[in-house]
Amino acid sequence: MSTEYASQSAGFASFQDLALERAHDLIAVCDPAGVIVYASPSWATLGWDPAELAGRQVLDFIHPDDAGRGTAGMAQVAAGGEVEAVTARYRTADGRWIWFEASGAPIHGPDGRVAYLVGVARDVSEREALKERVQEVDALYRVADAIARASSLDELLNEAVETLIAATGVDRASVLLFDEADVMRFRAWRGLSDEYRSKTEGHTPWTPETRDPEPVLVPDVVLAGFEDWLERTIREEGIASLAFVPLVHGDRVVGKFMLYHDDPHEWTDREIRLARMVANHLASATVRTRARDALRDSRLQLETIMRTVDEGIVLQTVDGKLVYANEAAVRGVGFASAADMINTERHETLARFEMHADDGSPIAADDLPGRRALRGEASERTIRYRVKETGEERWSVVRANPVFDEDGNVTMAVSVIHDVTEARAGAERIAFLMRASELLNGTLQVEETLAALADLAVPAFAGHVTVDLYEDGNLRCVGARHVDPEKTELMRKLRVDYPPTVFDHPVQRAIRTGEPQFVADVQAEAESMAHDPAHAEAIHALQNESGIVVPLIARGRTFGAITFGTVPPQRPFTAGDQALAVELGRRASVALDNALLYREVEARAQAAEALEFVDDGVFLVDRDGVIRLWNAAAVKTFRVKPGKAVGRRVAEVIKDWGTVADRITPAAEPTAGAGAVETVPVEVKGSERWLSISAVRFSGGTVYAFRDLTEERAVEELKSDFVSTVSHELRTPLAAIYGAALTLQRDDVRLEDSQRYGLLDVISSEADRLARIVNDILWASRLDSGQMGVAIESCDAAKLVKQVIEALSHHAPSSVRLDVEAADSLPPVAADPDKLRQVLTNLVDNAVKYSPDGGTVTVAVTAVGSRIRFRIDDQGLGVPPSEQGRIFEKFFRLDPQLTRGVGGTGLGLYICRELVQRMHGRIWVASDGRRGSTFTVELPAAG
Ligand code: ADP
Repeated sequence: MSTEYASQSAGFASFQDLALERAHDLIAVCDPAGVIVYASPSWATLGWDPAELAGRQVLDFIHPDDAGRGTAGMAQVAAGGEVEAVTARYRTADGRWIWFEASGAPIHGPDGRVAYLVGVARDVSEREALKERVQEVDALYRVADAIARASSLDELLNEAVETLIAATGVDRASVLLFDEADVMRFRAWRGLSDEYRSKTEGHTPWTPETRDPEPVLVPDVVLAGFEDWLERTIREEGIASLAFVPLVHGDRVVGKFMLYHDDPHEWTDREIRLARMVANHLASATVRTRARDALRDSRLQLETIMRTVDEGIVLQTVDGKLVYANEAAVRGVGFASAADMINTERHETLARFEMHADDGSPIAADDLPGRRALRGEASERTIRYRVKETGEERWSVVRANPVFDEDGNVTMAVSVIHDVTEARAGAERIAFLMRASELLNGTLQVEETLAALADLAVPAFAGHVTVDLYEDGNLRCVGARHVDPEKTELMRKLRVDYPPTVFDHPVQRAIRTGEPQFVADVQAEAESMAHDPAHAEAIHALQNESGIVVPLIARGRTFGAITFGTVPPQRPFTAGDQALAVELGRRASVALDNALLYREVEARAQAAEALEFVDDGVFLVDRDGVIRLWNAAAVKTFRVKPGKAVGRRVAEVIKDWGTVADRITPAAEPTAGAGAVETVPVEVKGSERWLSISAVRFSGGTVYAFRDLTEERAVEELKSDFVSTVSHELRTPLAAIYGAALTLQRDDVRLEDSQRYGLLDVISSEADRLARIVNDILWASRLDSGQMGVAIESCDAAKLVKQVIEALSHHAPSSVRLDVEAADSLPPVAADPDKLRQVLTNLVDNAVKYSPDGGTVTVAVTAVGSRIRFRIDDQGLGVPPSEQGRIFEKFFRLDPQLTRGVGGTGLGLYICRELVQRMHGRIWVASDGRRGSTFTVELPAAG
């Protein structure tokens, strides 16, 4: 006992008595600094020797966690106040802690200042233990309650964290669970930063497989021996002490609890026990909640699926009662809600419909797949429902399956109803369109067809159909049909009496705008489309509900319009119906256009037929420059068959058409008469042809008419050539004869006999030449005028040839050799001998004449089959292949300008051809055009 305390003990005696009375309370007297000056004997119950306590700090015996309260209480007493009921744990000599409830009062010194503090503490450990138990139970209760209430795992875990903090007095807490990848993840926490969580997530003392995991208690992080980073992270977060408590379910660690103190903390058994208890509860709840969540999720999914699927799903029990119907099922049968449907008696529900099979036969209720399923049979069938109230028709494929219990008894039937109305309607529309197209394409009598179309569309598509077409500028109804046959007549009559000519009539609107018109409520518009009240009345009588009017337009031409209408109970038209109506209108328009085109083409074809007999060339070019008509004369001139010309662009058929067309000015209209006639050259397959052409434009294009002047022009040219060559041909021998005769006449010139004979020879041979020219001209003119008769007889061909050669050899220049090759025993030829002689003479004469450089002329006669062939070969100038056809034409000469100095009339070969043809023979030439020609004449053998 200190002296100071002893000196004051006189005033203290009464207190001491008091203290002794309460001997089992702990009594301590301290100085204001908290140093014990007296400890009562009862301290011995904590294992301390009271005598040894004097001089020690009273706070040394108080639990660090309670020290704060102790210090505060002492300060209050030191300041002269009193404190009551401060609970704190007192340390026993063997290191345990016991709860005491202390009260304190000051002892004043003589100077009135507080000299000592006296504290009395009563053991309340039992009470505290009880309180702890209550707290624990309370905590457990809260967890259990949370588990019961929590609608999700996260809610549950959050509640658990709250509970733990409240029950254990930790500063912070968290729950982590292993995720699917067995990584420990934070699921609920208090007082932890994002950074801390992200850094420490995944850290765990255990794996899910760890057996009997024990809590890991870390009173002081600094001493725990954690890895550096982990220690740093924990300390940076302000955590000084922590505890890991495993969450175990079955054999598996499912997660952990973390408890944290901001100051170093000795973890007590109680805290850990409490945490473990909560953990145990939570682990099983976690697993359960997880399972429940999964179940709920899948049920939710299922329900969502059931709600959103387009298939109706219906469950009925063995007694036929509906227990479940999803939205699609409810919608399908026209109930407002599932409850409505479930609460309606089955027979009432069934009475709302008429049900038919695919083939139209009615279906008995007992045959419905659901009923059959209740009898244990899975089945499927297509059912047509007609809602009696609205008349609406729907198609469904219904599939039903029985549900069996373990004993194999049917407990329920599940029916799945797949609405196929749209698909059916789509298919029916396509089928309808196809039938309509067939109908329209199959005939060119379109007006009749359109009337048939009206029949087809009712009732498949519409309740009534009217077709109005323009005829001479007026709309005429060509077809009308109403579902109610009695009303068909009324409709027709109505159209005649009241044609749809009112400005606001949908038909007029459709025609005016070229757009389909949708009339949602015909009755509402009856007045605006009617001519007068009686008309409106009639429209009302027809009871049309909705209508669609489609204009019939093709290539910018409006033919009329088709009107479709619905008549209740048929449902009103929708946008989908309008698309079908428009498509139908489009097809009808094309068919109409085709038919009209066909009619035009037919008319044109008749005209074209007449054009075939016209000598003038005629062709028609449409607005796109494509040839549409090409007559026989055009074929002849352009040497292009109609098949190759019609349908092709004129520029592809006629060379350099652009230039040609530029020179032609078409008349503007057919009535204006033909345009100016132009003579233009065109190139046809390499040669030039001259056309006298004019053109007339009409709505569909331009008609060109032309005359081919090529021949005439050629003849003209030849004629003028002829005149010049013949005059030259005549003048030359005349000059020679004249000269020779003058010389013979002269008296002043003495002529030798030989000279005189020479001159007479000139006169005779030139006269002969003159005679031949004149002869040729005569022959030609006789041939032209048809005065040339032939007298065919059997002649000796070889003999004839020899005579000709004999006669000509006198005139032939010496550079030319004449040879004859005649086969032995030739059959006689059937010919007019004079004419044949003329032919052969001309040919041999030409062969000699056109061999200016000399050579051999060979005449060969052979028999070829039943014919006699004469071949005249020379080695002269030759005839170019391109001209081989033309040299037989009248007046034609290869060299009209006489550049080779060989004269002629261009009549010889013409005469040959004409004579040979008259004697039923053929003549032709072969030559490469460079050296030599071979003329061949074939005549029939006689007999
Ligand atoms: P012409 O009086 O000009 O000879 P023809 O009718 O006999 O008239 O012959 C027509 C043309 O045919 C001649 O101008 C000539 O160019 C050509 N011809 C005829 N026979 C021959 C031949 N044997 N060799 C080459 N050219 C010939």
